[in-house]
Amino acid sequence: MTTEQWGVRIPTKKGEDMRQALLREGILDLTLKVLHDGDNLVFPVFEEREGISRYVFEDQPGRIALPRHELVGGIAIMQENDPAGADSILASRPSLHTVLFPESEISGEYRTREYTVLAGTATTLTEVNEHGHRYKVDLANAYFSARLSTERQRIAEKTGNNECVLDMFTGVGPFAIALASRAAFIVAADLNPRAVLLLIENIRKNKAGNILPVLADARRLRRILPWQFDRIIMNLPLAGTDFLPDAFPLIRPGGTIHFYSLVSREGEHIDRIRELGGIEVTERMVRSYSPGQWHAVYDIKV
Ligand code: SAM
Repeated sequence: MTTEQWGVRIPTKKGEDMRQALLREGILDLTLKVLHDGDNLVFPVFEEREGISRYVFEDQPGRIALPRHELVGGIAIMQENDPAGADSILASRPSLHTVLFPESEISGEYRTREYTVLAGTATTLTEVNEHGHRYKVDLANAYFSARLSTERQRIAEKTGNNECVLDMFTGVGPFAIALASRAAFIVAADLNPRAVLLLIENIRKNKAGNILPVLADARRLRRILPWQFDRIIMNLPLAGTDFLPDAFPLIRPGGTIHFYSLVSREGEHIDRIRELGGIEVTERMVRSYSPGQWHAVYDIKV
């Protein structure tokens, strides 16, 4: 039997990293077999994303599909409030200690949500391993998403040795820590005190001594910080372009801003970015957010 599904095509040598990332994101369709196509693999996934196509996959015989879930370290986050499904996830994945169901949308300034524990240990604390880095996260008290791991890698690969970087909405610090072994110096700021406490712990865990943690509102950074930066990361997608005027004075001429935003059409923020001083702007859709809405990243050369 065969089934048509979305497929992510990737060179075989990068296949295992991609498989792990898709598993964490909860979008790998385990009921279908991976396609081998010359030097490439094609992974079946539940969701459309930029640049992927439909493929015909062979069914994986005897594979019982687990209910859909994302993985964040030892925690699985389910899409449905399904205690029996939670037990089956916990039983099938020895690395898990807890299964959660989100009771609310991501909300508030700190971008957190409330959870019910469906199975396992009653906690929202866990440790995530991502591309050789370790992050302590507390899902109920500070934002963390496994879905951005590929983006963090992409920005890390662009970062040069002598760069000074500002992560304006750092959360528990995954972008800052992913870049720390490459950059010279990183300022990582967030408004949420619990996020900053976890960031400090994560700096210690990853021996990232070139990160300066800052508890501050991004609107005040240009008055607090005496430096200009080579690279700025702005990952607060729901804020639209509100914080861009606070970022532009902090970037040096020739520097790059990576600005994440929720958009409902291609090129939505390009005019505003050019008005503020963006010279070269490229826009990519990172993933779909809801019908008609996309998470986009704008790489802005200033
Ligand atoms: N970059 C992190 C990551 O990838 O996990 C966190 C991104 S999360 C979407 C946005 C973060 O911005 C939250 O941790 C929130 O506390 C912080 N935040 C919201 N408003 C802020 C503000 N005005 N100034 C600084 N941080 C803010």
